[in-house]
Amino acid sequence: MEFCPKCKSMMMPAKNVFKCRKCGFEMDIKEHVVSKTERKEREVTVLEEREMGLPTTRVKCEDCGNTLAYWWLRQLRSADESEVRFFRCTKCGKTWREYN
Ligand SMILES: [Zn+2]
Ligand SMILES: [Zn+2]
Repeated sequence: MEFCPKCKSMMMPAKNVFKCRKCGFEMDIKEHVVSKTERKEREVTVLEEREMGLPTTRVKCEDCGNTLAYWWLRQLRSADESEVRFFRCTKCGKTWREYN
């Protein structure tokens, strides 16, 4: 759903534009879609970069038998639980937490 930036009323999709029913303002649909896709791609890149920066450790993945996994610490929400170590297999992406 799109709203007119000029008068804030609902805009209807026409051929290649969104058109405001009230004031006639038009917005290019194509440009709108492209900007949304770009944002999505940027989010994926950020996620990958973060994963690349994680340290790895020798631990066996139960799913694929790979012996290398990324690891990081996460503070759980409940106050009585301390930091927990998480692992993510570098091969299949399986994620699990360390059990004490
Ligand atoms: Zn309008
Ligand atoms: Zn695995």
